Order: sequence, then structure tokens, then C-alpha cells
Amino acid sequence: MTLTSTAGDPVVRVSGTAQGAELRGSDADATVLAVGSTGVPAVEPLLSVTRRGRTGFHARCPPERAKTIVSTVAEAGDVTTADPDAVVEHDPDATRLPVPELPGFGVGNRSVLAACGWRRPTNPADHEAAGGFGNPDPAAVLDAGTRLRGRGWGDRCQDAFLAETWGTVRDGDGDAAVVVNGHGNPADALLLAGAPFEVLDGATALARAVDAERLVVYASAADERAVETAREAATTYPDPPAPIDVVAGPPEYRAAEPTMALEAIEGNHRLEARLRPPGPEEVGLHGRPTLVHTSRTLAQLAIALRDGREPETRVVTVTGDVAAPATVELRESDSLADAVDAVEVEGTVKAACVGGRFGGLTRDLDVGVDPEALSAANLGTDGTVHVLAEDSCVVEFVGRRARFAAEGNCGRCVPCREGTTQLTALLRAVYDGEYDADGIEELGRVMATSSLCSFGVRAGRPARTALAAFESEFAAHADGRCPAGQCVEPAEVT
Ligand code: SF4
Repeated sequence: MTLTSTAGDPVVRVSGTAQGAELRGSDADATVLAVGSTGVPAVEPLLSVTRRGRTGFHARCPPERAKTIVSTVAEAGDVTTADPDAVVEHDPDATRLPVPELPGFGVGNRSVLAACGWRRPTNPADHEAAGGFGNPDPAAVLDAGTRLRGRGWGDRCQDAFLAETWGTVRDGDGDAAVVVNGHGNPADALLLAGAPFEVLDGATALARAVDAERLVVYASAADERAVETAREAATTYPDPPAPIDVVAGPPEYRAAEPTMALEAIEGNHRLEARLRPPGPEEVGLHGRPTLVHTSRTLAQLAIALRDGREPETRVVTVTGDVAAPATVELRESDSLADAVDAVEVEGTVKAACVGGRFGGLTRDLDVGVDPEALSAANLGTDGTVHVLAEDSCVVEFVGRRARFAAEGNCGRCVPCREGTTQLTALLRAVYDGEYDADGIEELGRVMATSSLCSFGVRAGRPARTALAAFESEFAAHADGRCPAGQCVEPAEVT
């Protein structure tokens, strides 16, 4: 079966729902493919009908309407007859989503996400037609590691170039292992669910380059679609250099931390970060030298190896006070404002928490999405933007993040275990008129400089950055007033 129709019956793709099976059972004279999510759930279920290099897109398409659309196009032979929300002309053999002019698709440049919403996630023919399953020269893989940086807090090389760590593993004692960490970030789960072969292409190329004997895909048990799809893809992946195991870990946020991910894969029920040095690249999974990279990192590697020196992109999920979250792929020259353009904000934007649960708060969205720009602005690089609308209270927001940190840390080191508890108490005290800005700042600094893992290093960042950008709101709360009108009496930081 070809991916797109070049003549005759239309090809119908259903994204983000199980409707595909229903349509396959209908009378429509069409090829029906169930594809993964586009990353833009606001338009899903998204029905696309392709015929002769032209695709009509139908957003939020319920099953009954889908059947009518398919019948109409099959009879008339023209995708425009069914009144689509967008039409795109493209190569008749397109293997990447022809990006429609629909909300959520107007920004960036999809390369890592190109398969999402277009190819069947676990169909080897679709992936092969797109140039996948290549067997790149290990030297080219290692060379690519000199230019690519790790993505996400689940990546052992977050924001660092990959080559040095790869060299440590390749030259280490013992059989190496490669772990795909798809835990803890929506984009990593999206890639496992929508384009698992892209991720596995990167992982297998890396495994060959470092002579790994073990390959593990790890995801949260809460991301059922990611786990199931990864399992099926692992089974059908042709000739991997090592057996591919798929492990579902506990859903706790901290379980994405690279060494806690290793603990979970080894089957330890009590998740604690490992002391380092040595890092996992020296003593990792069952004592082997181990590379831990996120789905985004490995998919980016696969794209770089296949397509040459394409500019690096950043996959960012925008969520918070929005009608629906969206995952977009931005050029490094794009800004946070571009990312927010992909969603419908519920009101006006007051601030954004950038870079995960423990990202930084900012009013200024005119900041680039590359790690240097984000770090210079004291923001996080985990690939998420949580939008706060005008009626959100930043004091309450950071209080919730602090309490989450106090309840969700692993308890192994004092700066994080005690620091997050004290931080929560300091923020709660603001409501009692005890506003100790210096104390919050100093505590955050101690946690950032002495915690064992990046959970504790970053846990104070929401509060510290909020203090810098919204000092007057903290002072107002200490005076018994919430400028956003959210903290009613008795005000509380829960
Ligand atoms: S920083 Fe927090 S999560 Fe990390 S080891 Fe210390 S207590 Fe555990």
C-alpha cells in the first residue's frame, strides 16, 4: 500500500482518535489510515483526505461527519467538494504532514514532528518510504554528536553537546546500554506514540556507534498510548543492534530524572536519585556504561543523520490557561511569543512559566527558544511553556509548585528535602504578612547549588523568578490583598 494516492480512491487519515477502525468498516471506497496525534489536540479528531497531491483537512471531525466526507470525496473525486477547513497542495508521495493553515500549525518548522499525524506510527512501510531504517556510518553518528545538544530534564546531557558523553560510554568497561527516556515531557510521549520509528532510528544508530548491547525504551505508565506504541514499534523494528525492551515506569514527575529512570528500569520500587560521580555514562543500568537520552534528542539525531545539517529545532509544548495545549516545533530563531501564538489563551497573557514544573516565570515572551537565550533569561529549557492568564495569581502558582516539590522529591538529600518544605512554609507565610524575600532568595540559592539532582537544583526557580518579576504582588499578599482576585479569604498556598 502506498502512503498517498496518486490516482483513484482517496486516502483518508484519522488523527488523534480511534475513528480509523470505524471508518474502515464503512462502505466508503477509500483507504483509511489511523495515524498518531499531530500534537495539536484542539483540531482533533483531524480527518485528512488526500487525492492526487492535494489534501483537505477537516478539524474536530466527529464519526458521522467523517463518513459523509469520505463518501462525498470518493464520489466526486475531488477533496475540495466536502468543504474542508484547509487544503494543501503537495508532493503526491509526501511522507511528512503537509502543514495545513489551521490553528496551532502556523508557527515553526516541523521536521522532528513531521511524521506525527501523517504516517502510521508502527507501519514499517510508511517509515521506510520516508527514508527511515537507515544504517548510518558510526563515524557520522559520533560526528553528529559534536553538534547536537540533549533535550529535556530527562536527558543526561540536557543542553550539553552529546559527543563527550558518548565517548565515555564507547570507551568504558562493560557492555554499554542506551536508554530512551520518554518519561515526564508531553513531547517525548507524543513522539513515542506518533513517530516511534524516528526515535528508534536515533537510538539504534547510537547503539551501533557505541557498541551497546542493551536498548531500553522507558516511559510513564500513565502515557499508555506511548508505551503501547513503543512496544509494537520495538517488535517490528527491523534488525536492531540489540534487543529493544520497553519499560513502563511509575508516573511520578521525579521518575523522569535520568538516574531515577535507571532505578525504575531495574525494578526498584523506591525511587531515589543516584549519587554522582560516577554518572550513568560510567556506572549506569545494572552497572553498565549507559546513555540516557530523551525521545526528542534521539529523534533529532535521526533527522540530522538522514537530512544532513538541517538547522536544529526545538519541540515545545504550550499549556496552562489555554483552550487546549499544543506541541509545536520551532526554529531556534523563534521566540516564546511564537510558541504561544500556537494556542488560544483564555484571556490575556500575564506571565509564562518556561521550562517545566520548575521553570522560570517571566512577563517577557520576546525571548529566543535556544538554550542560551532561555538560560540567560533565568528560564528553563525543558521544552514547556505554561501560560498564566491575567486573572492567575503568581503567588498561588509558585506556592503550588513549591508544595509539589516538597511532596514529590525523593528525600535523598537534605537541601532538596528540607529546602522544599521550608520554601513552602515561607510562601505560605506571605499570606500571614511575613514576606521574607531575602529568605526565599537565599533558600533557593542554597537548593540550586547543593542539591544532588536537577529536581532540587531547580525547585526554587519558580519562586525566585516570580519574586524578581512580580515583587509587588508578593507585597500585596503580605498586605492581605491578591491583585488577581484569586486568593480569597483565608488565602492559602496549597
Ligand atoms: S535533589 Fe531532591 S529529588 Fe534529587 S536527590 Fe535530592 S531529594 Fe532527591
